[in-house]
Amino acid sequence: MKNVNKDRLHNWLEEINRHGVTEKGGITRLALSDEDMAAQAYVMKELEALGLSVRRDALGNIIARREGTQALPAIAMGSHLDTVIEGGRYDGVAGVVAAMEAVAMLQDEALRHPLEVIIFMAEESAPFGYATMGSKLISGKAAPRDFAKSIKAGKPSFVDMLKLRGFDPDNYQTALRHPDELKAFFELHIEQGKVLYESGEQVGIVENIAAPTRFKVTVEGLADHSGATPMGQRRDALVSAAKLILAVQDCGLAYADEGTVATVGVVDVEPGTINVIPGKVTMLVDLRGVVYDAVMQAFQDFKEAVREVADEDGVLINVDMLSSDQPVPLSLDMANVLAEAAEEQGLRYRRMNSGAGHDAMFMAGITPTSMIFIPCKDGISHNAAEHAELEDLAAGTALLAAAVKKVAQ
Ligand SMILES: [Zn+2]
Repeated sequence: MKNVNKDRLHNWLEEINRHGVTEKGGITRLALSDEDMAAQAYVMKELEALGLSVRRDALGNIIARREGTQALPAIAMGSHLDTVIEGGRYDGVAGVVAAMEAVAMLQDEALRHPLEVIIFMAEESAPFGYATMGSKLISGKAAPRDFAKSIKAGKPSFVDMLKLRGFDPDNYQTALRHPDELKAFFELHIEQGKVLYESGEQVGIVENIAAPTRFKVTVEGLADHSGATPMGQRRDALVSAAKLILAVQDCGLAYADEGTVATVGVVDVEPGTINVIPGKVTMLVDLRGVVYDAVMQAFQDFKEAVREVADEDGVLINVDMLSSDQPVPLSLDMANVLAEAAEEQGLRYRRMNSGAGHDAMFMAGITPTSMIFIPCKDGISHNAAEHAELEDLAAGTALLAAAVKKVAQ
């Protein structure tokens, strides 16, 4: 196998990240935007130059393939090119260039199994309000009708936008991938946390992906004059909501040992006027972990806190479940292949979990799947400051190529 070519990796990163550079120095390459389409066109050209046969499926996912010496299921690898608003240069892109480089490194190897590079459409939820759509659709976990509603009135939905770009979501069934077509899937990604960065390890081998349980909390008190209502006669919805925010934090802390985290990311106060006691507060809560029972126990504890606050404060509190996804265990076999290759290459690695969701979650439903994490500076991602060292990207890429070779032989 050829050595990893750092210059080529660097050059691909630079070329892809020409698309979507913002004035603030971040990258805004929203799914299906002009910038995203241009980056995809560049990558397709480079994949062809690597000798792969490149196609788009009905949903715009890019699939580049090299046949094996035998007609066997393919080993696939890949990630995504789209970013959040003012995102960084590595989330998704690192996995795309790593997969491209792995193909280049394996170019002269006769492998029994075919290889595929998959660039998933629309991984980030920024423009359409849903995440990981390409991988959810090709793995049969969702249908386009699930993504047909637009996030804002007057804005195109994901399905509208696919059609505008000339794709064919009505025929999405032709894009479904079946377990017998694939032997394994690998995704390299920046960690998006600081475990590796702080430990100094070069790669992480991911064993589980945490999944979010999301719910909406509505607190109804009484909007009243802020000057004329004595303290003892108030039903201030924001004061009750503040107690619930602390309860959310307590629930996260109580199950932190099981990898549970809890966040109130949105608080909406009505009427939102300085001289009116808040009458209604809506909060969105994201509770997630790798142990589903712990997440559900934390949720039950939160509901207990809701009953207490409602009683104490005389407010009406509703909790509406928005979604509750099961954490995804990845393939232990493929993790073992990665660990074996990491030992052979003398890499410092650790086995770990992913707190963030990835396309690999859905690929895991159809084929044995594993992920390689590389460190990112200070754990920062979804931000212009997102950074990964070329050395670490190269080490992760060499590991990816070695693991793919082991499975493909
Ligand atoms: Zn990503």
